[in-house]
Amino acid sequence: MSENKDQKFVYDFTEGNKDLKDLLGGKGANLAEMTNLGLPVPPGFTITTEACKVYLDSGEEPAALRDEVSAHLDALEQRMGKKLGQTDDPLLVSVRSGAKFSMPGMMDTVLNIGLSDKSVEGLAGQAGDERFAWDSYRRLIQMFGKTVLGVDGELFEEALDEAKEAKKVTVDTDLDASDLKKLVKQFKKIVKSETGRDFPQDPREQMDLAIKAVFDSWNGDRAKLYRRQERIPGDLGTAVNVCSMVFGNLGPDSGTGVAFTRDPASGHQGVYGDYLQNAQGEDVVAGIRNTVPLADLESIDKKSYDQLMQIMETLETHYKDLCDIEFTIERGRLWMLQTRVGKRTAGAAFRIATQLVDQGLIDEAEALQRVTGAQLAQLMFPRFDEAAQVEKLGRGIAASPGAAVGKAVFDSYTAVKWSRSGEKVILIRRETNPDDLDGMIAAEGILTSRGGKTSHAAVVARGMGKTCVCGAEELEVDTKRRRMTVNGTVVEEGDVVSIDGSTGKVYLGEVPVVPSPVVEYFEGRMHAGADDADELVQAVHRIMAYADRVRRLRVRANADNAEDALRARRFGAQGIGLCRTEHMFLGERREMVEKLILADTDDEREEALKALLPLQKKDFVELFEAMDGLPVTVRLLDPPLHEFLPDITELSVRVALAEARKDANENDLRLLQAVHRLHEQNPMLGLRGVRLGLVIPGLFTMQVRAIAEAAAERRNAKGDPRAEIMIPLVGTVQELEIVREEAEEVIAEVEARTGVELKLALGTMIELPRAALTAAQIAEAAEFFSFGTNDLTQTVWGFSRDDVEASFFTAYLEKGIFGVSPFETIDKDGVGSLVRNAAAAGRATRPDLKLGVCGEHGGDPESVHFFHEVGLDYVSCSPFRIPVARLEAGRAAAQSSGSDSR
Ligand code: ADP
Ligand code: MG
Ligand code: MG
Repeated sequence: MSENKDQKFVYDFTEGNKDLKDLLGGKGANLAEMTNLGLPVPPGFTITTEACKVYLDSGEEPAALRDEVSAHLDALEQRMGKKLGQTDDPLLVSVRSGAKFSMPGMMDTVLNIGLSDKSVEGLAGQAGDERFAWDSYRRLIQMFGKTVLGVDGELFEEALDEAKEAKKVTVDTDLDASDLKKLVKQFKKIVKSETGRDFPQDPREQMDLAIKAVFDSWNGDRAKLYRRQERIPGDLGTAVNVCSMVFGNLGPDSGTGVAFTRDPASGHQGVYGDYLQNAQGEDVVAGIRNTVPLADLESIDKKSYDQLMQIMETLETHYKDLCDIEFTIERGRLWMLQTRVGKRTAGAAFRIATQLVDQGLIDEAEALQRVTGAQLAQLMFPRFDEAAQVEKLGRGIAASPGAAVGKAVFDSYTAVKWSRSGEKVILIRRETNPDDLDGMIAAEGILTSRGGKTSHAAVVARGMGKTCVCGAEELEVDTKRRRMTVNGTVVEEGDVVSIDGSTGKVYLGEVPVVPSPVVEYFEGRMHAGADDADELVQAVHRIMAYADRVRRLRVRANADNAEDALRARRFGAQGIGLCRTEHMFLGERREMVEKLILADTDDEREEALKALLPLQKKDFVELFEAMDGLPVTVRLLDPPLHEFLPDITELSVRVALAEARKDANENDLRLLQAVHRLHEQNPMLGLRGVRLGLVIPGLFTMQVRAIAEAAAERRNAKGDPRAEIMIPLVGTVQELEIVREEAEEVIAEVEARTGVELKLALGTMIELPRAALTAAQIAEAAEFFSFGTNDLTQTVWGFSRDDVEASFFTAYLEKGIFGVSPFETIDKDGVGSLVRNAAAAGRATRPDLKLGVCGEHGGDPESVHFFHEVGLDYVSCSPFRIPVARLEAGRAAAQSSGSDSR
């Protein structure tokens, strides 16, 4: 960070405003805003985040800072008519941290700066209250000692407790002036013995040290951890606010409090907050004495109460949002110490947004900016009944939200078996791997003792919208003995456990679950217009309607069967963006594929294909019926061949044993040879997708025929099928051309035979870098592109997802190499730039080229905004994410129409 000569590092509260959060931090910007609104804010000034950045980069404060601070301090002293720490009548200030984003309690603030052995007497004289002056002084030494000088805060707490005990009282207000004088002496002793120096008596030195301490607290452990969790960039720095003190500890006609302009849990308007008489600063939230509800202030001090209500209304109308505030009353006079747009629950966010529209404070476009897809997702998960009696077992990482209850099982096989017989199960593993997929699908929820937010379990569960708690380290999972031990409690297979993916908590036994009303609404089981519809559902309904009205992106679903398709449709899907056909080849049909692969002669192959065709066709007829009138993109077979063959090790053992017994079975031998022949080191980069279609004669054409015949059948039944055939893993236009030619032949033949004109679209996935780079050529043979951003991310980064997520993603996230996994949110600079360029190149060749995305990113809020921005036509995501994608597509559209006038 270079220092600019004319740079201004200090702003008076009268100079700033609420839009300067980058420079003045949230607290400083809002103090300035309130000052300019004419509200009673104690005067002061703000040192910018730029000054902090210089300090953090160079270890030195900017050279100009000291003089600038002096000038502002002079002005403040003039205005207040007294000097900082002046012995007969001291000006006191607080030195308060305040970054762009609120980091509650993560950084430091020191009150009562300017008190010393001398000025404490002056303060006592001026206030006519000795107790107050010594209470303020002990607070200064305590806060300054802890945050500026690094003394263990416990030492002060212990001394305070001892003083109370010695006097046989329980609250600090029962200590009188002489008790507090003694306490000050003791606090000073603690400082001396812990730091080897005396508590500084020079007020300016106190202030300068406190400012530096606030700068330093930006890089404290707590602050760093918080930023990582909240994805706040580490280089923003904090501003420092120097604010003249007002005193809530001047007796019963003084006090301090916090308040919300409306209920942050429900959104309801009313009087929400806490007040504490004769107290300073943090006392309200520290729980040292019992606070009273804010409403009680009306009877304690009616004048201040009325003024506060008036100010709260002013703030809400001005900020057009829920505000939270800190205030202090000094001898009947009200002072505002902080305000900000308040945090709220997901449910309140939706309600408040619509309430504010009704009040005429914001419009619909703004209402969309007041909620997020993540909040909507939270509202869609079932929850545990909070009133239930529960036995907590332990706690892990809240990896994928939801509330799941089921019998403990310790392997996938049992999970599948039990769930087939109608049991609900929780799959418990040390960690999961791709072999556990069946079990994960079968289970209600997944619980692991290892791995973090990007572990296989976490990522897959999130993708499936399944509840997951991972990395619960207290659990000792013993898969061999089918049990786990948690702090002495043994949980056997079959015991019921409950897991909460929103909090990471794990319970023994069944915690009752209540379904989310929001999902009931999306499912059509609850109507927003109904008399008894709850307020939340009405709010969600209205916000979704705004989003649908403005969004440009269409939203499709990834769905492979009619059941999922129907749900997707209820949730608002405008088609299917990805129907994977591989699921249609598993189970009983796997053997048919095995036959196809092993066929030695054309006849054998024909026979295998013939057996598969009617089954495939039936799948498609059902799907097209469920999605009648809407596009359905069917992807031809994609996964590597070995997935359809028996496991190589298992088969080898079987053959070896048989040979030893001298009764080797010819079929097994052939199978083993084939499995060896087809075995790949890197199946992900091997024989799959279009390559498979080109190598196994008849496979793709059988699938195309099934699609074409199904479409013809639906058409004859007066339906409106809109199939799109998608070729996976294309790297060059030549591959596509060959498949296309064959497909067109088949389609023409079906059309001729049935007399139905099918209008099937043919297109491709763009999921290899080469495809993206040669998009202009590929568009010659493709009527649509669907960006497969999962594989594109794997191939652009050279990451094998199953391997990297488990082995080193946690380290990468910790080192800040990326703030979020590129599999979760699209990597805009790398993968995203390929998408952007390929979209443009494709459209240059074929202006009406349809563009979509079908990776998991299609349901990720930030990625949806990116896809909107690069001009795709639709995103496709899992059925459960559709409302989230609709909302985010609406938010993206409202945002871009607000920021430019295209
Ligand atoms: P945080 O960001 O942790 O809330 P603050 O800077 O807001 O820290 O200060 C901590 C407490 O001290 C708050 O209750 C605040 O209202 C109070 N406080 C801060 N400055 C002053 C002041 N000048 N006069 C009186 N109380 C103050
Ligand atoms: Mg505060
Ligand atoms: Mg793929």
